[in-house]
Amino acid sequence: MAVDKTANIVIVGAGCFGLSTAYHLQQRGYTNITLLERASSHPAPDAASTDINKIVRSAYSDNFYCDFAREAIELWKDSKVWGDCYKESGVLVLAADVNFLGHTNVPLANERAAGAPIRELRSGAEIAAAFPASAKAAAPEGRSGYFNPEGGWADAQGSIRRLAEIVVGAGAKLLTGHEVIGLSYDAFGGASGVRVRGKAEPIEADTVIVASGAWTVSSFADPELRLNGRMVATGQSMITIRLSPEEAERYKDIPVVLDFDTGFYCFPPTDGGVMKISRHYAGVVNPGFIPQADLDETPQPVMSIPTYRRPDLTAKPNATSHSAVPLDVANLARIVLRELFPELGDKPFEMGRMCWYTDTPDANWVIDFHPSHSNVLFVTGGSGHGFKFLPNIGRLAVDRLEGKLDAALSSRFALALDDPDRQVSGELLKRLKTLDQSDLRFAEDLNPGATLVDLQSDTTWRETLRTH
Ligand SMILES: Cc1cc2nc3c(=O)[nH]c(=O)nc-3n(C[C@H](O)[C@H](O)[C@H](O)COP(=O)(O)OP(=O)(O)OC[C@H]3O[C@@H](n4cnc5c(N)ncnc54)[C@H](O)[C@@H]3O)c2cc1C
Repeated sequence: MAVDKTANIVIVGAGCFGLSTAYHLQQRGYTNITLLERASSHPAPDAASTDINKIVRSAYSDNFYCDFAREAIELWKDSKVWGDCYKESGVLVLAADVNFLGHTNVPLANERAAGAPIRELRSGAEIAAAFPASAKAAAPEGRSGYFNPEGGWADAQGSIRRLAEIVVGAGAKLLTGHEVIGLSYDAFGGASGVRVRGKAEPIEADTVIVASGAWTVSSFADPELRLNGRMVATGQSMITIRLSPEEAERYKDIPVVLDFDTGFYCFPPTDGGVMKISRHYAGVVNPGFIPQADLDETPQPVMSIPTYRRPDLTAKPNATSHSAVPLDVANLARIVLRELFPELGDKPFEMGRMCWYTDTPDANWVIDFHPSHSNVLFVTGGSGHGFKFLPNIGRLAVDRLEGKLDAALSSRFALALDDPDRQVSGELLKRLKTLDQSDLRFAEDLNPGATLVDLQSDTTWRETLRTH
C-alpha cells in the first residue's frame, strides 16, 4: 500500500507504543505527525511507560517474541539514541519447582538456542552466590533458577523523555492536555479525525493511530467500535524502598531478579538509591461507565477503567490518584524482600504506584486497522510486556500501516473483533479480581509494623501468592 509521506497522521497517546511509532514513521520519511497526549505534562504520570525501570529480557516461549526481544536488546545498546538508559545487569530468574531447569521450560530452551550464556543455579547457595557478595543476598534451599547476563533493565521515564525529544526534534508535534474522547466522522460515516475534550472542533487527520494504552477501551467507548472486551485494563502495583548511599553502592551490581514462584521482581537501585519491587500477576479491574460525548447518549459500560481514587485522597495534598497500592501487594513485597535481601527487608516503603496493563487474552499486541475504518490503526494491547520493545515496536506499526507486515504477524496482531477466542471471557475473566478501593494504602504509610501478615508464624503466604 503506497502511503503519502506528507499525510496528516495523528497519534493518540505519547507512551511507549505511540512514541516508538512516531520515531519509525520519521525513519521512513513521514513528515506530518502529531501526538496527542491527555496528560497536562509529558510523560503522563499515570502511563504504564512512565516508571522507574522496566525489565528487558528475551525469555519467551514464543520464538517471535524471543527474537524480537533480542533485536530490541541490541538496539537499546545504541547510545546515540538511548544514552545510558539501558543497563545490562543480567536477569536472574527464580522458581521453587525443581523441574524449572528441565526441558519443559520452553523460554529457557529458546534462550539457550539463541546462544544466551545461561548459568544454571540448582540450590539456595548457588542462587545467593549469583549476587555480588556485598549485596548479602540469601535464598532458601529447595529453589532453583538461572542467570542470563544478556538483558537487564531500562530507565523507563528517561528513555520515554529521550524518545520524545528525538521525535519532536525531528519535527513531530506533541500536544499535551489533549484528551481524545473518540473519533470524529465525515458525512459518509468515515473517520475524519478525533474529538478532544473541551475543544469545539475535532482535530482532522488522514490517519489516526490509537496508541492510548490501557485507556483505549474507555477513550474509544463508542459501542460501534466494539472494543470493550477485546482488551482490558488491569491494575498492577509497584512499591519502592530507598537505600542509603553506602547500601546503594553495595547493591548496584545485583541483577534484575524475577521470581516465578511469587510473581515478584525487583531491580538494582537507581543512581539515587531507589529500589523498585513489583509484581506480575492477573491484576485488578475497575469496572465502570463512560459517559458518551453527547449527553443524550447512554453511558457505556466498560470492563475496566484505568483509574481509581481513594476516598481520603484530599488528606494527602501531594498524593495523586495512582499513588496507593493494594495492601496484599505491599505485604507480599515485604515478605519477598525479607527473604531475598534480609538486611533491606525492614526498610520503610517510600513510594507506591498503580499503573495499568492493557491485557489481551493471548498477550499478543494489537496492531491492526479497525474493520470499519481503514484509516484508523490500533497499536496497543501491551499486555504487561511491551516496554522492552520501545526501540522496535513502532517498526511493526509502520509495516502494518504500509501493508508490509507479513501475513503471520498481521494475523497474530489482528484486532479480530469477531473472533470469540480473542475476547476477554471465561477463565481469564474469572482470574481478574475487582479493585477494592477500601483495600488501598499509600505505600509511605506502610512501615513494617503496619503490615497485617504475621511473617514469623503465618506460613500460608506462599499459597496466597499462588492463588493470584
Ligand atoms: C507496573 C508495570 C510494570 C511493567 N513492567 C514491564 C517490564 O518490566 N518490561 C516490559 O517490557 N514491560 C513492562 N510493562 C508493560 C509496559 O509498561 C507496557 O506494555 C507499555 O508501557 C505500554 O505502552 P503504551 O504506550 O501502550 O501505554 P502507556 O505507556 O500507558 O501510554 C499510553 C499513553 O496514551 C495516553 N492516553 C491515553 N488515553 C488518551 C486519550 N484518550 N487521549 C490522549 N492521550 C491518551 C496516556 O496518557 C499515555 O501517555 C509494565 C507495565 C506496568 C503497568
